[in-house]
Amino acid sequence: MMAKDDKGVRVRIAPSPTGYLHLGTVRTALFNYVFAKKKGGSFVVRIEDTDSSRSLPMYESNILEGLSLVGISWDEGPQQGGPYAPYRQSERIDLYKKYLQQLLDEKKAFWCFCTKEELEEERNAMLASGITPKYGGTCRHLTSEQQEQKWQEGRSGVIRIAVPTGTTLSFKDSIRGTIETKSDGIGDFVIAKSLTQPLYNFAVVIDDWQMEISHVIRGEDHISNTPKQLLIQRALEIAPPVYAHLPLVLSPDRSKLSKRNLETSFLDYVQDGYLPEALVNFLMFIGWNPGDEREVMALEEIIDAFDLSQVQKGGAAFNVDKLEWFNIQHIKHLSDAQLLERLKVHMPETWQQRDEEMLLSVVSVVRDRIKKLSDIKELAGFLFIPVPYQADLLSWKGKGLDVSRQNLSEVYGILEKIDADDFSAEKIEGQIMPFADERGRGEVLWPLRVALSGQKNSPGPFEIAGTLRKEETLRRIDHALQLLS
Ligand code: GLU
Repeated sequence: MMAKDDKGVRVRIAPSPTGYLHLGTVRTALFNYVFAKKKGGSFVVRIEDTDSSRSLPMYESNILEGLSLVGISWDEGPQQGGPYAPYRQSERIDLYKKYLQQLLDEKKAFWCFCTKEELEEERNAMLASGITPKYGGTCRHLTSEQQEQKWQEGRSGVIRIAVPTGTTLSFKDSIRGTIETKSDGIGDFVIAKSLTQPLYNFAVVIDDWQMEISHVIRGEDHISNTPKQLLIQRALEIAPPVYAHLPLVLSPDRSKLSKRNLETSFLDYVQDGYLPEALVNFLMFIGWNPGDEREVMALEEIIDAFDLSQVQKGGAAFNVDKLEWFNIQHIKHLSDAQLLERLKVHMPETWQQRDEEMLLSVVSVVRDRIKKLSDIKELAGFLFIPVPYQADLLSWKGKGLDVSRQNLSEVYGILEKIDADDFSAEKIEGQIMPFADERGRGEVLWPLRVALSGQKNSPGPFEIAGTLRKEETLRRIDHALQLLS
């Protein structure tokens, strides 16, 4: 049952379209989405594109495409709109301007004309006298005449918020409990570069408020921004949302995750052959688990089991081996037909043109060896095109090649008698095994397997033969016999 205060749950992610979607954003999106679904609330996608020099539409598309791919859907967003539209910050500039002006009028924010050099000098002086540097307040109390003078001089200004001294900024994080920060350590920080150029902390507060966001669930790297956002909310006299900061994603040795891992495009993982459902499972388990022994879970099950208060506080490791394990588990849950559908995009065109029955047979022969869908090319290549090999490989444990030749030629004779329509792995096994038991399994099955696969390691000979079908099977045995003669 939904608790009373859960009715208005509204969460969001606010990615910046300044790069391709990466795993960290998908993880944050998933936690928000799962929480919204669990609570019967709404999930919003908002695009933080105020950095116009670095934001690109192609990154926005890439982000949205990746989120859809893992099964996340959103109730409101930049493309479909919604009751709080627009959902791109670049289209909300007038709104920020209005509240920036309000804070300036109320003297809760002020224009600062300090140059970079002046600020640098101030900072160095503070450091030299052992003070933790922060903005010293030079422009905070400028009169309107003094301000006017600065404009006249052609100085450019930024907008800073006036931070009250002696205040404790406190919030109850749903994951980490109460977090307190003293306002004295925070200098009057910049909230906008101009009336039409708000910075992150300001724009995010306005948007979360205007869009009636109830819970802000985001990465731990934003904890230090939260007191600043609380200060802006105070100045605007608005209530803060509930905050929940997800644990950092760490590398397996528990150091900070390398930029490479963090910035690898999410779609690259999908193209590499990780199933979206495995990625979902894996990402949700970085910092959360259902509290029982379950590990392999579908998104629906995760939603059902999810509880924000169960998210761990400490950093959680990103382990590619674990991702591979989840992938293998989720592959196991697919039928041959379902798996084939997923594998097709990883298959060369010529393979895809083969009949469905053959392709299904390929899947059933190699599926246990697939770790990533893209493995299919390497694992199944020999089923489509014969692999060249040296005659010596046909010899079983140093036994003479004549033994292999003799056995293979008799195998050829047995197989030739099987009807092409009846050429199944079971049928072949039934016909060959009595012969193999008589002559020695290794002596018969090894050369047969090598003749069919061209490889030292491969699936068993009966399955391969069943997949290759009669004509190709006999052709390959014949080729081996030629190598041996
Ligand atoms: N654009 C920010 C990010 O993606 C949003 C942070 C927030 O959720 O407040 O990290």
